Amino acid sequence: MELRVIGCHGGETPKHRTSAFVVDDRLAIDAGSLTSGLDLTAQFRLQACLVSHAHLDHIRDLATIADNRCQADCEPLIVAGTAPTLRVLKKHFFNNLLWPDFTQIPNKTRPTLKFLEMKPEKKIQLGAYTARAVMVSHTIDSAGFIIDGPDATIGYSGDTGPTDRLWELLNKEKNLKALLLEVSFPDREQRLATVSGHHTPRTLIKDLKKYVHPKDLPALLYHIKPVFQREVEQEIAKLKGVNLTVTAIGDQYVL
Ligand SMILES: [Zn+2]
Ligand SMILES: [Zn+2]
Repeated sequence: MELRVIGCHGGETPKHRTSAFVVDDRLAIDAGSLTSGLDLTAQFRLQACLVSHAHLDHIRDLATIADNRCQADCEPLIVAGTAPTLRVLKKHFFNNLLWPDFTQIPNKTRPTLKFLEMKPEKKIQLGAYTARAVMVSHTIDSAGFIIDGPDATIGYSGDTGPTDRLWELLNKEKNLKALLLEVSFPDREQRLATVSGHHTPRTLIKDLKKYVHPKDLPALLYHIKPVFQREVEQEIAKLKGVNLTVTAIGDQYVL
């Protein structure tokens, strides 16, 4: 399984992009930078996009990728998420006001986007992969994912503060090769992290220790706020007994 980092930040500047990852060129995880970070060929190759929650930094490029794929007459892009997330996408985003409803364009039988509901903890099949949504702890309904491919399983935390169920399920996985894990604010901004449903290095290390062998699990960190990038990286560098990597745009992992 090849995992590419398209965007891995909790904000945007010319050097920071919002969350989007691609597995084997086919399966996207969140859509924060799918068009700002992928050329047209790569945009057209995607078959599905898992959407963790409806916050704009995770869904924004669904607008522009739909537009591009529609003009190129691509196969429908499957957009998979839990019911609350899809409800927001339909009502507030692809509502023919903010953006056209690309689930009806160019026509209903072969639209540009197809929404696929994920029931929490029930597997769905997407090509060679199965994916499960696991509800996590954020300010709105937010899911993490467990994704099984032919040779590896990876986890994705979604936007979350301290949470339990995701760790219970990750502990049962036999072939877990990596976990994409959010961290957003430095320790001194704990209050802000708590009210906004995000991790600081302090809560991140506590949560990671809910995993049976935290040292054996490569945790790929993303969603750091650009304003706090250096400070969060310095705090992370001091954490012991875990296997942490701060992801960067363009990183590729073979798992
Ligand atoms: Zn969020
Ligand atoms: Zn976010």
